[in-house]
Amino acid sequence: MASSSSCITITALTLTRLVHRTPSKFKPNPRPLLLSTQLPIKSSVHSSVAMSSYDKQLTAAKKAASLAARLCQNVQKGLLQSDVHSKSDKSPVTVADYGSQVLVSFVLQKELPDHTFSLVAEEDSGDLRKEESQETLERITKLVNDTIANDGSYKVSPLSENDVLTIIDKGMSEGGSNGQHWVLDPIDGTKGFLRGDQYAIALGMLDEGKVVLGVLACPNLPLESITSGNQNAANKAGCLFSAQLACGTYMESLDGSQNVKVHVSNTENPEEASFFESYEAAHSSHSLSGSIAKKLGVKAAPVRIDSQAKYGALARGDGAIYLRFPNKGYREKIWDHAAGYIVVAEAGGVATDAAGKPLDFSKGRYLDLDTGIVVTNRKLMPALLKAVQDSLREEVLPSL
Ligand code: AMP
Ligand code: MG
Repeated sequence: MASSSSCITITALTLTRLVHRTPSKFKPNPRPLLLSTQLPIKSSVHSSVAMSSYDKQLTAAKKAASLAARLCQNVQKGLLQSDVHSKSDKSPVTVADYGSQVLVSFVLQKELPDHTFSLVAEEDSGDLRKEESQETLERITKLVNDTIANDGSYKVSPLSENDVLTIIDKGMSEGGSNGQHWVLDPIDGTKGFLRGDQYAIALGMLDEGKVVLGVLACPNLPLESITSGNQNAANKAGCLFSAQLACGTYMESLDGSQNVKVHVSNTENPEEASFFESYEAAHSSHSLSGSIAKKLGVKAAPVRIDSQAKYGALARGDGAIYLRFPNKGYREKIWDHAAGYIVVAEAGGVATDAAGKPLDFSKGRYLDLDTGIVVTNRKLMPALLKAVQDSLREEVLPSL
C-alpha cells in the first residue's frame, strides 16, 4: 500500500552519510523516513533526496476537509428546505457551505497554531448577520459543535454564534503573490450537493502565488472509475484526493480504508479519451465542448458532473480531458480550481487557459485568464489546444 504521509525518499547509503558526516546539522524529519529498498544503493552523494516542507500543512488540510465532509454528509442526508438560501448573485448557499467553512478554518488554526493564518474562501458572514437569519445561524452553530464533539479530537467549549460569524470571516483574505494563503471552496458544486449528486470540499494552499498542496474531499465519488456511468458511491464513503508539490497525488477512501498513488490517463489517442464537463450548462458551454471533442476525434459522450470532483476523477484516469467554457465576462475564482489544479498536476496532468497559458493563482481572489480552462495529459494537450482554438474561431461564447 502506498503512503502519502511524506514524500521524502532517501537511499540507505545517503542516510548513513548524512547522519555520519554532519550529525549536528542534519535534523531528521520527525516523521518516519521512507527507506527506498527498491532503489539500488548509489555510491554517489547525489542520491535521491527529495525533502518536502508542506507535510504538516497537508496533514492538517486532510483532517480539515474530512471533518467538513462529515458535516456535509450529515446535512445532505436530511436536508431541510430552511437549510437552503439564495445569495445576492442568485446562487444557492446552504448551512453546510457555512458549516464546512467554519470547520476547515477551525481545524487549520487548531492544527497549525504556530503558522500565520490567511484564508481565501468563498463564503462571508454578511447574510447570516441579518435578523431573519438567526435560526439559520443557530443551526450552523449546532452542526459545527456536534461535528467537533463527535470527532473528539479537540477539547474545546462549544463555539458561540459570534465565534461562528468571526471564523467565517477569516476567509476574506485577498491572497496574492506573497506568503502562504489557504484557498477554500467549502462546498464546490452546491447545485450538485442539492441534487444529491457530486460536490467537493476543495482546499488548496498557495506559497508565493503557487499552489503547493491541495485536498479534494468528494463524499459522493466512488473509489471505482465513473466513466461507465456509475457516478454515485455505492458505499457512500467517498474519496479524498491529496497532492503536494513534487510528491504526487494520492487517493484514499474518506473513511481512511485505502491509500493509492494515482496517475492521469496516458492515452495519446483522442478516440480512447472521454471528457468531463459541468453538469450545469450555465457554468460551461456544452455546445462548444461538443464541437471541440468532435474536432479532436473523441468518440465517447461527455461525462457531466458537478464540482472539482472532475479534477479528481481525471487525476486517476477515469477520463482524459476536462473542458470548461463559461459565458464571456464570467470571472473564475481561485477556490474553484486551486485544489483541483495541483491534484491533476501532481498526477501528471496539466491545466491551462484556452490559449495554453498556465493558470496564475497569484493575482488575488480571481484567476486572470483568457477564455476557459482546459485540462488533460501532456501528450494530448497540443492537439486539444488546437481543437479549442479552431472551435473558438467558429463559435462565439454568449456573454453573461
Ligand atoms: P461546476 O460544478 O463545474 O458546474 O462548477 C461549479 C462552480 O461554478 C461553482 O462553485 C461556482 O463558483 C461556479 N459558477 C457559478 N456560476 C457560474 C457561471 N455562470 N459560469 C461558470 N461558473 C460558475
Ligand atoms: Mg465552487
